[in-house]
Amino acid sequence: VISLPVVQQGNTSSAPPAAPDHAVRADRLIDSHGRTIRDVRVSVTDRCNFRCVYCMDPDFRYMPKQELLSLDEYVAIARVLVSLGVTKIRITGGEPTLYPQLDDLIARFAALGVPDLSMTTNGSLVTLDKAMKWKSLGLKRLTLSLDSLRDERVKAISRSDTSVAKVIGAIRIAQQAGLGPVKVNAVVMRGVNDDELPDFADFAVEHGIDYRLIEFMPLDSHHAWSMDRVFSAREMRHRIESRHRLVREEDDDPSSTSMNFRIERTQMGLPPVPRLPGASRPTGRIGLIAPVTQPFCGACSRLRITADGKVRPCLFSHDEWDLRAVLRTKSPTVERDVARFLIDSTWTKQKGHGIGSKEFHQPARTMSAIGG
Ligand code: SAM
Ligand code: SF4
Repeated sequence: VISLPVVQQGNTSSAPPAAPDHAVRADRLIDSHGRTIRDVRVSVTDRCNFRCVYCMDPDFRYMPKQELLSLDEYVAIARVLVSLGVTKIRITGGEPTLYPQLDDLIARFAALGVPDLSMTTNGSLVTLDKAMKWKSLGLKRLTLSLDSLRDERVKAISRSDTSVAKVIGAIRIAQQAGLGPVKVNAVVMRGVNDDELPDFADFAVEHGIDYRLIEFMPLDSHHAWSMDRVFSAREMRHRIESRHRLVREEDDDPSSTSMNFRIERTQMGLPPVPRLPGASRPTGRIGLIAPVTQPFCGACSRLRITADGKVRPCLFSHDEWDLRAVLRTKSPTVERDVARFLIDSTWTKQKGHGIGSKEFHQPARTMSAIGG
């Protein structure tokens, strides 16, 4: 058992050191380990109507409103990101559906020509009207969260009054609005929901979703994470295969964080996985995400922008760079300055997170304040 991690915060309020000339000339977001950033998670709020046990304490303190980015500031950042070759932007939080200007943000991001614009939500505030509006404004896909298929557990884990039926409703709405293929995230924790793994596979088939099962990461606000609470992806696969055969599928995206599997129910005498008309693959897959036990840092193409305008080169960074200060200078060269700042920040991206090593320290920010 690894003892509780020490919480450390590094450099939080300054500018990154200058990247070398060739990185600046590349006009792309490249880091010192040969990776290119194409995928940015933008947190539009640190607020949330849930208090998931692996994320946020009930008495979690939000950032003051004046510290949060304005809509224009988000759009300015996104415009520069697109000009630097970013092709994927995921809107997240906190709970992004609480962001008051969400429709405008989606519309203005889409107008910048972001090829892959998606959003992650706990689903509690998703309605058909809203989903259809988001689709018409340019959102491409929705990812939802559902950590258990049992109501009492869903409520206990999220410390909210949500229910399995509510999330199933949100899945259907997303599919109906054309915001698919729908992904559903679950954080799998030892002794909490690991006994439901084969049921998650059945659920994926039944609802035609990609169920993404994530190892518990040390990003919870109460710092109760410990290695013995992590249920590894290897164990998840083994547990699911007690009922179904999983067949590995290559992903179209080499920087994908998940190991994807087709679910072979025929082995167990169950009907084969249905294929939707026109679908290129059977609907319903399992994605295993193993940041703790099988880190994918070498293929990472991601950067994160927090709701208070900090650039985080890695989920587990201790250094974060204050982009908001650049935006608020009101300089006539602000877009060029933002581009240079993002290039310099990316160059500082660490090689790997090192969870599990003696040197690892949990960052001060929680997942909700970073943008998952
Ligand atoms: N509120 C939205 C939601 O829950 O879907 C979006 C933000 S949430 C921070 C994004 C994702 O991060 C969720 O799917 C959640 O399960 C995941 N997450 C949060 N804390 C985590 C942790 N400690 N380990 C692994 N995943 C975590
Ligand atoms: Fe809120 Fe999402 Fe964190 Fe749960 S995981 S507390 S829904 S931000």
